[in-house]
Amino acid sequence: MPVSDAQMVSAWTHVLGLSRLEAGQSVTILTGPTTNEQTLRTALIAAAGMGAVVNRLDMLPRNGEKALSRDLLAYLGDTPLTGNMPALAMLKESDLVLDLMTLLFSNEQVEILESGTKILLAVEPPEILLRMLPQPSDRDLVENASAILTSADIMRVTSKAGTDVTFGIGEFPVTKEWGFVDEPGRWDHWPSGFCATFANEGSSNGTIVIDAGDILLPQKCYVNSPIHLTVKDGFIIEIAGGIDAAMLREYMDSFEDPEVYAISHIGWGTQTKAHWSTLGLYDREATIGMDARAFSGNFLFSTGPNNEAGGSRTTACHIDIPMRNCTVRIGDLTVVEEGKVILHKLP
Ligand code: FE
Repeated sequence: MPVSDAQMVSAWTHVLGLSRLEAGQSVTILTGPTTNEQTLRTALIAAAGMGAVVNRLDMLPRNGEKALSRDLLAYLGDTPLTGNMPALAMLKESDLVLDLMTLLFSNEQVEILESGTKILLAVEPPEILLRMLPQPSDRDLVENASAILTSADIMRVTSKAGTDVTFGIGEFPVTKEWGFVDEPGRWDHWPSGFCATFANEGSSNGTIVIDAGDILLPQKCYVNSPIHLTVKDGFIIEIAGGIDAAMLREYMDSFEDPEVYAISHIGWGTQTKAHWSTLGLYDREATIGMDARAFSGNFLFSTGPNNEAGGSRTTACHIDIPMRNCTVRIGDLTVVEEGKVILHKLP
């Protein structure tokens, strides 16, 4: 259902406040052909209303002819910023970039962040942004989860459906997403609420059973029949099952790149305002599926690149797979038990 500009201006003001935007700072709003007009209009008003110097940078699209779907995350590779020095300079000179275009998994994003610029991605439709308006408590949950994630060197995930897989962790930093950017050089995504890291190179081994009801993104569909993945030394070496497995295998094969089968980020959702069932209510092109990525107690793993965390894999195919009813252990500590987050008080 629609939301009003007044609600969105208020939401942006809240998020920019949590992101410590101060009068006189520079905000660049990065836009493209898919940018939501209401989100853009109200971001401009809120940022200007807080006394910021506000610019807009509109970019041409890339890779549309290569991607097999219209999803903004369906094909990673060059971005509109690749080799675009004037645009890069503008973003690096900004205090805060509001990414309403979707700049992800790119060397340019890493370069901008290293300059101290903050980046906040916001591309879900306005009503989802409002429903999952971030709060400081979202940060507390993710910080707690992240402290646990860095406390051991192995993650083990099991499920009654047959998943039993281990991942070595610690080689790459933890990704913490709570929906606002309160430190220089920080990237975040409104809406979100999860923590993740990237599996150590070559360390993932076992079986992952993507069960009926689990979600494939960018396919944006619920799996109808189990997909059995055999994982060996960091790569999926077999995809077995019925029609869902065949579709997944054909999609991944189409990239003709062995790196698409690598295990990428692994983690779990902490966001109680996100829901597993939401994806079934939206047209595929109306959302990028942040409910699915963030709902509390999911086990979210992915395939493909790890360059965002400093790794060397840059494959164009990236599939996020949120799963239900899994038990996730970090070392000896159970952090998700059959799909329910277990909270631990850390010293
Ligand atoms: Fe991902």
